[in-house]
Amino acid sequence: MNIKTKLRLGIGLLFLMILLLSTVGIRNVNSLKNDTENILADNYNTLEYCQNMIAALDVMQQKQNGLPAFEKNLRLQTKNVTEPGEGQATAHISQRLGQLRSNPGDPNLHLSIRRDIAQIMEQNMKAIERKSDIATQTAKTANTWIMISSTLCFLFGMTLLVNLPGNIANPIRELTASIREIASKNYSQRVYYRGRNEFGELADSFNTMAEKLEEYNKSNLSKILFEKIRIETLINNMHEPVIGLDENKVVLFINNEALKISGLRPDDIVGRPAEEIALGNDLIRSLVSDLSETESQGTLSTVPLKIYADNKESYFEKEIVNITIKPTGEREKRLIGHVIILKNITPFKELDFAKTNFIATVSHELKTPISSIKMSLLLLENQNTGHVNPEQRQLIESIKEDSNRLLKITGELLNMSQVETGNIQLNIQQASPEEILEYALEAVKVQAEQKQIDLQIDLEEDLPAIKADSEKTAWVLINFLTNAIRYSRQSGQIYITIRHHENGVQFAVKDEGQGIDSRYRAKIFNRYFQVPGSAKTGTGLGLAISKEFIEAQGGHIGVNSEIGMGSTFFFDLLRS
Ligand code: ADP
Repeated sequence: MNIKTKLRLGIGLLFLMILLLSTVGIRNVNSLKNDTENILADNYNTLEYCQNMIAALDVMQQKQNGLPAFEKNLRLQTKNVTEPGEGQATAHISQRLGQLRSNPGDPNLHLSIRRDIAQIMEQNMKAIERKSDIATQTAKTANTWIMISSTLCFLFGMTLLVNLPGNIANPIRELTASIREIASKNYSQRVYYRGRNEFGELADSFNTMAEKLEEYNKSNLSKILFEKIRIETLINNMHEPVIGLDENKVVLFINNEALKISGLRPDDIVGRPAEEIALGNDLIRSLVSDLSETESQGTLSTVPLKIYADNKESYFEKEIVNITIKPTGEREKRLIGHVIILKNITPFKELDFAKTNFIATVSHELKTPISSIKMSLLLLENQNTGHVNPEQRQLIESIKEDSNRLLKITGELLNMSQVETGNIQLNIQQASPEEILEYALEAVKVQAEQKQIDLQIDLEEDLPAIKADSEKTAWVLINFLTNAIRYSRQSGQIYITIRHHENGVQFAVKDEGQGIDSRYRAKIFNRYFQVPGSAKTGTGLGLAISKEFIEAQGGHIGVNSEIGMGSTFFFDLLRS
């Protein structure tokens, strides 16, 4: 039954009950009224007429004229005969009226009339008694009926009072609870109503909605699961070891490469705090040692990690990427985890060792023949060896200059191999910035000319002398200039600025090339690092060696660059 019909029936029945109650009440009150009216009309009036007739007889006995009053009351009594036997007695009195008229004082007649009147009065008194009993009975019946109908009304009213609010409120409460469940993403929630009323329809609509939401949620979930598997597969197939951690440093995933080098099984690591695993695993300890709590960009280790796995030594460069998100509706970024990526640099390292050894050997081997060339030149210059004409002398001078240069270059190459093996030998002295610049300019002159690059020099006057190894500092400046030339367009301009400041002198080389993306700016001083997409002609070592040279001299090296706006590489060295 639907709610509307239920309400209509309930209120309708209440209305009927009220009607029944009032009908029963009115009917019973009416019958009570009739009973009492009967007593008044039928018997009370008769008693009054009888008393009046007795009074008239009394008047007549005292020889006065009571006849008219007697006749009048007898007439009224004749019309008001209601009880059995009352008519006969009244008729008796009427028959004796003639004798009374002719002989109003006759005591025998009076006696007989009084007897009849007494009979009438007695009959009416009895009637009053009977009718009063009937009225009492009517009142009792009325009471019973009113009680029955009131009880019925009460019972019905109570049933409505107890059931109707619940009938309406319970489904609403149930529905509200279900809507709350759905709002908290419990899409399996359903509502069940047995009745086919409005709430039944509402429940059906609600269930359909919940079902569709569940279906939608499941389809999204399966999509997300699919994407998760895809990403896991991608990570697993990467040749570089990758480990993912959440914000509490609990391991979320680890790929096969990382498992291979760490010697762990997935069950040993996934879902466990990295610090706990680090207690029993050296590799994990060194990987998580410098995880930052902040949401900074991440770090790239400068010292390569040496890992022994698969019966060979490998070198890895550790990169920690801090993962941050900006939650919906919030302004602040939040750190949600870290990804540790190990870049295998073993081939570079091996190449580097081979190159360093090669350079060291070649430079060492070249030193002897160059020294013997210099020796021979000295002998040639000697008068005892023979006479040399001016042209020959000029040639000897030029060979001398070249061999000096060759000797210097081999020295530099040796220095470089020292840096790479970690044995830098510095020759720090009081040096002139102008001389260093001159030397560097001489070295890159040909390269710049080939590319028609204009070198603009801004050299401050009266620069103080600096504490530096001139050769190594010049080497750094040459490296800056070579890079600037390489990354400048044809016929571009390069600005070389040398200025002094409070503590020393700054050398800066500015180009108008492509610039360096902010993401890579911090990494370009790392060994072997080359900006992705840049010309792969170099080795990625130049800036790293420059950094070591400058820092070994107590200086500072850096770069300012914006993509598309060129770059300015600079280094500061202390004044002497
Ligand atoms: P490379 O031998 O590769 O030049 P460097 O250590 O000198 O090695 O430089 C490292 C990387 O920095 C380069 O691969 C290049 O991508 C970037 N770089 C260096 N100088 C510049 C520059 N002036 N403009 C743009 N990128 C530069």
